[in-house]
Amino acid sequence: MKLQRIRTIKGRIHLLTGLHIGASKESIEIGGLDNPVIKDPFPGSRAPYIPGSSLKGKLRSLIEIKEERLSRDPRTQGNPCDCGDKKCPVCPVFGTSANKRNDDLGPTRLVVRDAFLSPDWEKKFKEGDLPMEIKYENAINRITGEANPRPIERVPAGVEFDFNISFKVFEGDSDDYFMTVLKAMHMLEHDALGGAGSRGCGQIEFSEIRIDNEKMQPDYIKTIKVE
Ligand SMILES: [Zn+2]
Repeated sequence: MKLQRIRTIKGRIHLLTGLHIGASKESIEIGGLDNPVIKDPFPGSRAPYIPGSSLKGKLRSLIEIKEERLSRDPRTQGNPCDCGDKKCPVCPVFGTSANKRNDDLGPTRLVVRDAFLSPDWEKKFKEGDLPMEIKYENAINRITGEANPRPIERVPAGVEFDFNISFKVFEGDSDDYFMTVLKAMHMLEHDALGGAGSRGCGQIEFSEIRIDNEKMQPDYIKTIKVE
């Protein structure tokens, strides 16, 4: 399979509401908060960031729902599509498990890198001007009626991260593959990134979009038709 070109989508993720992408249990510090956000493990950094895998996984799941590509097999119900078919709207773009890879499908087209704080926000963070926010979620016990407040840490609204997506185009690839990514981005603006999305966390907007280093209009992602 001949690689024709590598396309890029770059820009900013602007938080409209607080973002909670949880750290895994292993990385939680002793004596720390119960539900911290994931932080850059780079020594001395500890800045919040958006793992590429979180962003990619969310984009994938939105397309899977839209295209009805979630597994219906009761044993794997709700699992990601893993058909490995070149015509699938999900697998060529987002990838498959190792045993479904095949020569016809070719390599995964989409690479989503970790999104770090944009320079202004990184500076604020380093100067101690970007405290994380603690939101108390009240879980009400349905039987006793007792409230059980549970703290979750969030990156506050207003903060911006720089994202970076690269996309491989192979000879014979449909343009629909690349459009799938833009559609998923549009859908994400109407959905939520990270945890507690149904309770108002993780509403985002994509801004300052550059495609193949060409600057797009300010509301570019909103103009993408999802149909
Ligand atoms: Zn598939």
